[in-house]
Amino acid sequence: MKMTRVGILANMLIMEGGMFPGIERSYVNNDYVEAIVKAGGTPVLLPIIGNEEAIKSQIEGVDAIVISGGYDVNPLCYGEEPTEKQTFIFPERDEYELKAVKYAVELKKPILGICRGCQIINVLYGGTLYQDLSQIEGWYVKHVQSAKREVASHSAIVNENTKLHSMLGREVMINSYHHQAIKKVADGFVVSARAKDGVVEAIEKAGDEFIVGVQWHPEMMVDRYPVMLNLFKKLIEEAQN
Ligand code: MN
Repeated sequence: MKMTRVGILANMLIMEGGMFPGIERSYVNNDYVEAIVKAGGTPVLLPIIGNEEAIKSQIEGVDAIVISGGYDVNPLCYGEEPTEKQTFIFPERDEYELKAVKYAVELKKPILGICRGCQIINVLYGGTLYQDLSQIEGWYVKHVQSAKREVASHSAIVNENTKLHSMLGREVMINSYHHQAIKKVADGFVVSARAKDGVVEAIEKAGDEFIVGVQWHPEMMVDRYPVMLNLFKKLIEEAQN
């Protein structure tokens, strides 16, 4: 069978020291690469660029995409002013991803958004974010864990009749590295998992398209919790249909 090319939308690292202070490096954490390989796919890194034709060409060249984690989404992208607890933003990435993901949708490529990637899907479709968890009524779970990255630190309840449920089952243990969360869920999307404090942990597009976002980092968990590999396997399977 033909190998499935999974494009990973890359992040940008701005070096503070070293040989070239201030230099920008396109990168992803290698956990994404390894998880896709383990699921049977071919990982392809897609760096942040500005030219629309080139972005389209990037997306045409892959069969599915993973939107990786990273900096806060610029609140201006969802029509809000920045508030005090927003952290570093990198608007070039927001602009790039909003275009790249739009093309991926148009070209019917399956999409898995991880952490910030989940948030950018919601924003692309008109949803909004809490700029900080402290803005959420009822929030109490520690969502920035103090444990190794592969350790599941809190639980989430997965809604039945969702794509996520077919991959993970009803209750799942997840890691957590987010200080922001989904506020208004985009039209056409459903919440597919929540933490016990009500914080949205996953969304997905209703209907047949595979557009799934998770707020945690499954790519860091696949060795210790093999169920997490199902997300990547399903993404690849959808790309083959
Ligand atoms: Mn969490």
